[in-house]
Amino acid sequence: MHCPFCSFQDTKVIDSRLVTDGGQVRRRRACIECGERFTTFETAELVMPKVVKGDGTRQPFDDNKLKSGIKRAVEKRPVSVEAVEESISNIQSQLRALGEREVKASVIGEMVMEALRKLDQVAFVRFASVYRRFKDVSEFREEIERLESKD
Ligand SMILES: [Zn+2]
Repeated sequence: MHCPFCSFQDTKVIDSRLVTDGGQVRRRRACIECGERFTTFETAELVMPKVVKGDGTRQPFDDNKLKSGIKRAVEKRPVSVEAVEESISNIQSQLRALGEREVKASVIGEMVMEALRKLDQVAFVRFASVYRRFKDVSEFREEIERLESKD
């Protein structure tokens, strides 16, 4: 935390207490450099990070896109609706837990693949083949072999 008075990089927390039903932390800080004191209020940020696409453009996180991608992959597979919902909320929690303002689309793609791999292998391969855009059959076979060796 920068000192708002002299912009020094390091400040010391001298007091910390919970405020408003525990949803916020009030901290008294002192600057190590100039000695000024100030107060910060910290609240957990529960917003989803922005998605950074391959071409560098940013997009708001699209919940529907995540859901439809997973649902399309498990279509007509023996996977319960509950398991799908759980995977989706798992991915959302993982994304929030990153605590980043931005996340690469590829990171989300990997999370989805990991979730599908646990849910159903056919669903995984369906998603992976679209997502990774396998260039040829051998690349696809490698992925299947990698998948089989994991379990
Ligand atoms: Zn200072």
